Amino acid sequence: MDHSRLRTSRLAVLTGAGISTGSGIPDFRGPAGVWTLHPDRARLLDIDAFLSDPEVRVAGWLDWSKSPALGATPTAAHLALTRLVASGSLGEVLTQNFDGLQQAAGTPDDAVVELHGTLHATSCQRCGRGVPTADVLADLGAHPDPACASCGGILKPDIVYFGEVLPAEAMNRAVEAAQACEVFIAIGTTLSVFPVASLAGIAVEAGADLIIVNAEPTGYDRYAAEIIREPIDEAVPALVERYLG
Ligand SMILES: [Zn+2]
Repeated sequence: MDHSRLRTSRLAVLTGAGISTGSGIPDFRGPAGVWTLHPDRARLLDIDAFLSDPEVRVAGWLDWSKSPALGATPTAAHLALTRLVASGSLGEVLTQNFDGLQQAAGTPDDAVVELHGTLHATSCQRCGRGVPTADVLADLGAHPDPACASCGGILKPDIVYFGEVLPAEAMNRAVEAAQACEVFIAIGTTLSVFPVASLAGIAVEAGADLIIVNAEPTGYDRYAAEIIREPIDEAVPALVERYLG
């Protein structure tokens, strides 16, 4: 492999749940995934059910209060990507994850594009007022179906639920990165959730090499220039070394 070319390549990186499983956060669609084991849990993330059914909200908030994402620490892979951003080789990390672990690993907030939102912030669905999710969870005992302090509207974590549109600015940034890169690295994602999965296709169509780091097969394996099945916490630091030079 021509390392001089690699060092000057413009990179794009997309991360999915697989990069956080090493932190004790289960993924969704893997063999031990949340929805593989508990298909009914997906309903708690359905926007229509959430907005119309108080029982779904109570169960959903209770679920978030127990989320391992809240107390998790970043993995070696998150830390390696932080080094890549700090080196200037990578402009931003595109992520499907809402656990905030890439930022916790030291990547600046403005270099993380959260395509599916974040668990750490919550908004009123009527007036838009924002509140830290931690504040909502701390008061969950008194208010199991939490409401906005300003207008009484329904509160929902700033996570993209099923049936919701992805944040436009984040998706635009991701598409630009996919179109501009020479190497697109997809880490810990099955590339099965659209429109995010289409970023890999956009990059390939624009002429980029696709590198996939994932234990399970993905929908884009046949387009990949390289597929890495090794554990993410070993594979990603090794891959990052390649681009740090
Ligand atoms: Zn409100």
